[in-house]
Order: sequence, then C-alpha cells, then structure tokens
Amino acid sequence: MKINIALAGNPNSGKTTMFNALTGSAQYVGNWPGVTVEKKEGTVKGDKDTNIIDLPGIYSLSPYTLEEVVSRDYLLTEKPDVIIDMVDASNIERNLYLTTQVLELGIPVVIALNMIDVVRKRGDVIDIKKLEKRLGCKVVETSALKGIGLKELIEECKKAADIKESKPVHNFNSDVEAALSEIESSVSSLQDNPNARWFAIKLLEQDIKVMETFQYGPGEKEKVDIIRERLEKAHDDDGESIITNERYLFIGDVVSDTVKKKHVGMTTSDKIDRIVTNRFLALPIFAAVMFLVYYVSISTIGTWGTDWVNDVLFGEIVPDNLNAFLEGIGTSEMVQSLIVDGIVGGVGAVLGFLPQIIVLFLCLSILEDIGYMARIAFIMDRIFRKFGLSGKSFIPILIGTGCSVPGIIGTRTIENDKDRRMTIIVTSFMPCSAKIPIIALITAAFFDGKFWVAPLAYFTAILGIIVSGIILKKTSLFAGDPAPFVMELPQYHAPSPKNVIRHTYDRAKAFVVKAGTIILAATVVIWFLMSFTPSFEYISFEDDSSGSLLGIIGSAIAPLFAPLGFGKWEPTVATFTGLIAKEQLVSTLSVITGGAADLDPDAVSEAGDLLSTFGGMLTALGGFSFLIFNLFNTPCFAAIGAIRREMDSPKWTFFAIAYQLVFSYAVSLVIFQIGSLILGQATFGLWSVIAIIVAICMLFLLFRSYNPGKDKFKPAIANN
Ligand code: GDP
Ligand code: MG
Repeated sequence: MKINIALAGNPNSGKTTMFNALTGSAQYVGNWPGVTVEKKEGTVKGDKDTNIIDLPGIYSLSPYTLEEVVSRDYLLTEKPDVIIDMVDASNIERNLYLTTQVLELGIPVVIALNMIDVVRKRGDVIDIKKLEKRLGCKVVETSALKGIGLKELIEECKKAADIKESKPVHNFNSDVEAALSEIESSVSSLQDNPNARWFAIKLLEQDIKVMETFQYGPGEKEKVDIIRERLEKAHDDDGESIITNERYLFIGDVVSDTVKKKHVGMTTSDKIDRIVTNRFLALPIFAAVMFLVYYVSISTIGTWGTDWVNDVLFGEIVPDNLNAFLEGIGTSEMVQSLIVDGIVGGVGAVLGFLPQIIVLFLCLSILEDIGYMARIAFIMDRIFRKFGLSGKSFIPILIGTGCSVPGIIGTRTIENDKDRRMTIIVTSFMPCSAKIPIIALITAAFFDGKFWVAPLAYFTAILGIIVSGIILKKTSLFAGDPAPFVMELPQYHAPSPKNVIRHTYDRAKAFVVKAGTIILAATVVIWFLMSFTPSFEYISFEDDSSGSLLGIIGSAIAPLFAPLGFGKWEPTVATFTGLIAKEQLVSTLSVITGGAADLDPDAVSEAGDLLSTFGGMLTALGGFSFLIFNLFNTPCFAAIGAIRREMDSPKWTFFAIAYQLVFSYAVSLVIFQIGSLILGQATFGLWSVIAIIVAICMLFLLFRSYNPGKDKFKPAIANN
C-alpha cells in the first residue's frame, strides 16, 4: 500500500533536515523561515511506497502568508494519510500551538519530538508516555540532524495510517465544546464531514479564508451567528480570542505536566545572545564579522588562490600552451584569437574568481549554520522597525547574498503585498556571488587591493536597501504598518561540515556551470563584435578596437555615463553585458582589455593586463562609481524573470526595473560629482549643480514626514 506522509511544523523545527534524512535528498536547509516556500516530495530511502512531503513552515492553520496557504491547502484538500507534526522539543511550548490545530484535522498524526539532542544536552526531561496520553497520538523522540529515531518514526506513521482514525483528545472549556457541537449539528454540510470539528472551530473564529468559500444551507449562517454571539457574550471576548486562549491554557497545562526543566536559568545560547544581539553591540559586532569575512575571502586567502589562477593558470600556463599548440597545428590567426583572447580570456577571467567565491561562501555558510545569520535578521528588524520596515524583509535579502533569484522567491513569507513588492525591488541590491568578481576587480584595479573596499561595497548595499525601503515606504504605493516579525532564534551549534560543504559546493558549482555555458556563449559574441568592423572586416586585437562593432555601439551610449565617471565605451559595453550575468561584466572587460598582449608569450599576463588597462581607464572615484552603479542597477535576466514571476504584474515589474535604474544612476551621480569636487578633481559646473539637486531630492524623500491623506507623489517621477 502506498502512503503519503506530510511533514508539518513551525519554521525551523527541522522539517527539511528530516526530509533529507528520510529521503536521502539534498534540499536546502536554512536557518530561517522562508527557505522552503514550496512543497517538496520524495520517497523514503529503500521504501518506494512511502511518500514524504516537505511543507513550508507554519505557526498556525489560519494562514496569512502565501507559503502558509500552501501548507494549509495541502493538509486540508490533498488529505495525506498521516501527518508528522515536527515539534521543536527545545521550544515545545510555542510549537504545540500548531499541534493543537493539526490534531483537529481528522487526519492521523504522529508527533516527532525533534531536536531531542538539544533537550538531552540541557538535561531536561520530557515524559513521552504522559504527552501521548494528553495529546492522543504517538510521540517519537527524534533528532533529524543526528539521525535519532527516524526508523521508529516511519514505523509509527505506518501503524497510524492503518488505524485511519485520530480523535482529538484536547477539549476546550465545556461551554466552548457545547457551542462547537451545536454548530456541527446545525450546519448540514458538516454532517459526515471528517473535518467537521475543524470547520466548526473556524466558523466560531470567523476565519476569513474559510468564510469566503464556506457553503451554508438556508438559515444556517444566522444560527451559527447566534451560537457564536452567545458564547462571546459569556466570555466577554471575540470568538477567535476565546479559541486562542483556550489553546494556550491547554498547552500550559500539558507542558507543566510533562516537561521537567533542569535549569530554569539561561542557556549558553542565551548568554551568547546577550552580547551578540545587545542593543549597542549588535551592529558593531555584525560590521566586524562581515569585515573579517570579506577580508579573508577577498583580500587574503581567497586572493592568493585567485592570483594564482589568474596570473599563472589562465595568464601563462593555459594561453602559452594553447598558443603553441594552435600555432603548431597551423590555425589561422583569427581562430587562435577567438580561442585565446575570447574564450580563454573571457571565461578564464571569471573562473579566476572561484577561489574567492569558495572562501566567501564557506565563511557565510558557517555563519548561517551556527545560527548567527538568523540573529542578523533579528537585529535588523530592530533597526528596520524604527523606519517603518519589517525585519521580515531582511530574510530574502540575506538569502540573496548567494543569488537574488531564491531571495526574490523567498519574499513569499511576507504577507503584506506592499512590503513584499518593496522587498522584491531591493533584494537584488545585495551583492550576490556573481557581483563578487566585480567587487574584487574594482578593488584590485583601482584600490591596490585595499582591504576595506569590499566590506565598504557590502555595507553600501545594505545602506542602499534601507534608504530605498524608507523612500518607498513614504510613498502612498508602499505605505502601511510594518508586518509583525516573529522568529525562533535557533540554539547556536557547531557547524555541521555536511551542510557547510554542501552550500559552498552548490554555489561554486553554479558559478562554474554558468562560466562554462552562458558566459562562454556571451564571450564568443563579444569577441565577434570586437573583431569585426561594421563592414565585416576582421581587425586584430593588437589594433585599436574602438572602430569595431562593439566599440562603435559602446561609444554611442557611453556619453550617458560620463556624468557618473565612466563614460568610456569599454565599461559601458561591460555594464550592458552584465544583464546576461553579472560576472559577464568582468569577462567582457577581460576580452576587451586582455587581447593586445597575449599573442606574445613574453608579454605581461592576461590578468595583469585587465587590471592595468582597465585601471588606467578611469579614476579611482570613477571606478568606485562604476561599482556602485552595477551594485544597484537592474539585475541579470534570471533575476528579472524572478521579479516578473513574483510581482505577477507587468506594471510592477516595470516599476521595479525603473526604480533600480533611477536609484543606481542617482547614487552614482552624486558619489562621482560631489566626490570629484571634494577631491579637487573637478571644477564646479552644470553636473555639479544637477548632482546637488538630486542629492537634495533624495534627502527630502528620505526625511520628509509622510502624511497618507495628502500624498500625491509618484516615486518614479520624484526620483528623477
Ligand atoms: P525547517 O524550517 O523546519 O525546514 O528546518 P530546517 O530543516 O531547515 O532546520 C533548521 C535548523 O535546525 C538547521 O540549522 C538544522 O541544522 C537544525 N536542526 C534540524 N534538526 C535538528 C535536530 O534534530 N537537532 C539539532 N540540534 N538541530 C537540528
Ligand atoms: Mg524547510
């Protein structure tokens, strides 16, 4: 017999870890809610007839967010044979709230008392037998992480599926129970409905989503209203609060009956949090941690690897041998140029940054796995809230440090549409792995590898997100109270090598695959456009390429960027190719600048060429402005696609792209123009005036007080 087992539980209770352990698959395990936004299916290892479904985390069955709806709809309409209710045993009180509701669904339930390793380590004891009796279902102690209790859990599920019956043991107050059975008997569609009790409770709570579609018979709605109003009057409270109160009373009673805590005081985790999330220390600690991460990955360890790959591997070994080989077999100069200048130069330049990416993601994965990144969302919530933003918005942004696409999808955790849209717009500001090569290139080409450039870019991105959030929230399009943000802070634990290595490997693999496919194809096109004139005459890389197709197109657009300090055709073309993938920017610059020397084996290496040629093209300020523009401007096509899907509206997709363009242009303009004045590199002129006006407009949008009634601002216009 085939059975379907659904994993339901609060975010962070370990559902995905359990799913991976049971099925042997490798779904992303994250330390924050919103990682699993869609349900995933798999079969138990060595048991093809047992299906496991991993659902997004939920706090209750009265869903408010898109992912919560996914879970509730699945449980109610698809009717799994058994539900495994994942309960984080180290946080049992909060987790049982959902349990009381799951028990009402009329589907057999087995409770996995997960994270039992944490409970045991603390020395706490939970009386399983008593708990089973109070809840009326089987309880199995598990640790998804350590592989404890998995076999037993599946066996209990199979037994429960056979019995096909689950009677809720938890009873409400006698008058509530009376009201419920009265509702059940007065509504015809609830007769013989296995979910009758659940629906009766929802009708008593006046659950909006249920009421929308619920079919009453004639006169039944009025009867239910009378029953509800009578109860509400007796309790002097509304239906929903009565039910919620009852649940908490029940849970409090069960917990005091079954859980024996060893220490009532603070755990080590709490002690660490006293410092790490301290009101005053939290931000400096976060800044220091990120500084260190970028220092290690971009400026020291990662760079040694990158230098070797760039200078030796793709600078000497590969091109020299390839040149000798191609000359040996008598290839034409053109084909040789395509392979060496184009493909090796372009793809090699991107692959060169792999060591830095690996070190960076190794550090970030460790921070995430031990539980630190979850604290960042919590700390950011405190800051965001001051500005009317919700910390919920910061989680997709944190996910976006890998790649914006899952970050943008992760916004589904945000129930409020306005906040969700606002978050989608700013998520791609976060430097994703593809932007790391740009940051590293700018650092090396213009700042002599100074260690502070990369962290500066990172914090500028966060500042850009906060500033954009405030500006957008002050317009009528996004105004509204910030969404509440509840989040379990997981206990700190030693990083699991399996998780860390898997994350890092996934990122590195995606990076290499992209280099071998999209970047490779784009590079060939770039080489072509750069090697031919409009009349399709071949020009060698040793000649001046400004007369090539690429040079001509780039030169036509370049003046647009002159006020930002990079009005040359090379960075212009590179910026546009960044739409394909952000790494392409570096690849394009490498093809453009690297060609001149490498037919001569004794010349400077390819990477040296990229650095010195590009480095000589702009001032340091122009280089920084170029970096900032590319941090904030429109993301790659893949991310634009994700924006379009999640916005589900051409108008909002357009708005997002327009905002990103206007914002990036405005910020770079202000940085370059005002920076040039301060550094004495320019005299006061028309563009200085424009930059000052733009800066004043931005400050106005940022600091004005928002008055919802009178606001007539359209932000797209206001930012110009
Ligand atoms: P989900 O949100 O319910 O899918 O939770 P995840 O599976 O993503 O896990 C959240 C965090 O809890 C991860 O850091 C896991 O490594 C950790 N975790 C999961 N199960 C256990 C467990 O049994 N013991 C401990 N100590 N940690 C666990
Ligand atoms: Mg999950």
